[in-house]
Amino acid sequence: SKLAVLSEVAAIIGDPAVRNRGTVGGSLAHADPAADYPAAMIALGAEMVCEGAKGRRTVKVDDWFKGLMATAVGEDELLVEVRVPILAASSGASYMKFPHPASRFAVVGVAAAVTLDGKGVCSKASVGITGAGTKAVRAKGVEAGCTGKKLDAATIEAAAQKAAEGVDVQADLQGSVEYKSHLCRVFAKRALTEAVKRAGG
Ligand SMILES: Cc1cc2nc3c(=O)[nH]c(=O)nc-3n(C[C@H](O)[C@H](O)[C@H](O)COP(=O)(O)OP(=O)(O)OC[C@H]3O[C@@H](n4cnc5c(N)ncnc54)[C@H](O)[C@@H]3O)c2cc1C
Repeated sequence: SKLAVLSEVAAIIGDPAVRNRGTVGGSLAHADPAADYPAAMIALGAEMVCEGAKGRRTVKVDDWFKGLMATAVGEDELLVEVRVPILAASSGASYMKFPHPASRFAVVGVAAAVTLDGKGVCSKASVGITGAGTKAVRAKGVEAGCTGKKLDAATIEAAAQKAAEGVDVQADLQGSVEYKSHLCRVFAKRALTEAVKRAGG
């Protein structure tokens, strides 16, 4: 219940057979560009612990996804732990995606986590985007557009307009660059709106 967004992510992955067999670690190690957990882990600020013959090391999520199905795990290592910090007080998190109609993979998925201060001003915004490019990325423009502001509808709308910035949006069978960029903006707005509501804003 302290990280309910993770169970929400799990509930909309694939179908029951996929959900019953797939693992969190497997998804993060696989780094499919359309996988759901990567966006959520970016928004939540997770850390991955790798272990190999030379010992253990911790990798921050921002250093984890290296490219198309490529991560920071070494050839002689296993991902042995995923550490996800519990949300601070007055925080909310949400994940929204446009699912592929067959596989349910994210054509675009956006995870947002926000923390509000005592005056309802956003003291921290953390946003991850999956599906649009070759790897899940942090939406820094959206975060900057939220931090230090009251997250009313107009501010969320303006911040969400930055969602495709910094994403290497790829045209593929699911859609054009323009279409997927549009989905980034739409789902950033939806995820932020729900996260703010959950934070009590
Ligand atoms: C039909 C279908 C629909 C799907 N839909 C979705 C979806 O909607 N959303 C979504 O996010 N995902 C989706 N997936 C992906 C699925 O949820 C799993 O994440 C994926 O199949 C990986 O499965 P797994 O966890 O069993 O990992 P595995 O298949 O066991 O491993 C995947 C890769 O990661 C490596 N690996 C696994 N564990 C580790 C580890 N601990 N350390 C280092 N390397 C490791 C393996 O060597 C392998 O290369 C779908 C998959 C299928 C087949």
